[in-house]
Amino acid sequence: MKYFLTFLLLGLLSTCSLAQISQYEVFFAQYQNELVIRKWKEADAIKYLVVNSENLKTHILNNIEAQPVTWNNVLNLFEKTPYIHDWQFEKHRDYELQDAGITKADSTLKGFSLTIDLCPSSKPLTRSFFQNVIKSFEISERPVPLTITVTGIWMQKHQDDLNWLKQQEKVGNLRITWVNHSYTHRYDPKLPLTNNFLLEHGTNILSEVLLNEQAMLSNGLVPSIYFRFPGLVSDKSIFDEVLALGLLPLGSDAWLAKGESIKNGSVVLVHANGNEPLGLALFQKMLRKNEGNIKSKKWLLWDISNLLSKE
Ligand SMILES: [Zn+2]
Repeated sequence: MKYFLTFLLLGLLSTCSLAQISQYEVFFAQYQNELVIRKWKEADAIKYLVVNSENLKTHILNNIEAQPVTWNNVLNLFEKTPYIHDWQFEKHRDYELQDAGITKADSTLKGFSLTIDLCPSSKPLTRSFFQNVIKSFEISERPVPLTITVTGIWMQKHQDDLNWLKQQEKVGNLRITWVNHSYTHRYDPKLPLTNNFLLEHGTNILSEVLLNEQAMLSNGLVPSIYFRFPGLVSDKSIFDEVLALGLLPLGSDAWLAKGESIKNGSVVLVHANGNEPLGLALFQKMLRKNEGNIKSKKWLLWDISNLLSKE
């Protein structure tokens, strides 16, 4: 009985700490110079997820006056902006089975961008990896800009680790771009890639994307304009479904554990969910090798949207 009550209390507490979101919908509107992409109800407010079409950063607004427009209107209204430039670029990158979407930036840039996937895992977050990255860049970049792609299932099972990451933001160690990596991140090791991850039969793309956005918002994270396909696997049909939601799929040209190396302008991919220590070790080896260049700002860690908008 005592355990039952404790369990019940813990359940109530965790429900209380999560914001209650309802009537979540895809909603396009122009508001001042920005683009509204989602609308929902939370407590007594109507909230909106908004993207700045120049710097591709997202934020949340409350109770604004926004009239809905069609996606074709959006293309016209924001035609000359970096956001529509990148969206149109994605249109030509939608057909590859693996690694479709934006994978790298201009190779004349000094440095790269780091993306860290949190796919579902029974292991704890590798906090020491983040601590090493923070330490390595403490002279040249603070807070350290990095991108974390997150799944609903991981957030559900790793509230402590998620809070630890949010704390790193709060104390000014990290500046995190939070990316949707789908809610369930379906995967079956027995299936071929053409029928695996979100291509697995019976997957509902819309709910994988929108449920995870709601899970991110409930956990206090602001979803960015990017989306990363689980396993970097997609086909034209699901890729175009994600584009139709206004999102920009994010690939990688340097998945370290797969033997790809970091170049100028790379979008680097590692996993800090305990399932791919090799990628983390290779990254840390690179940090040691480039210690001098990092300290003298010759080798920079870029914020993802700053890196990509330099195209
Ligand atoms: Zn993943």
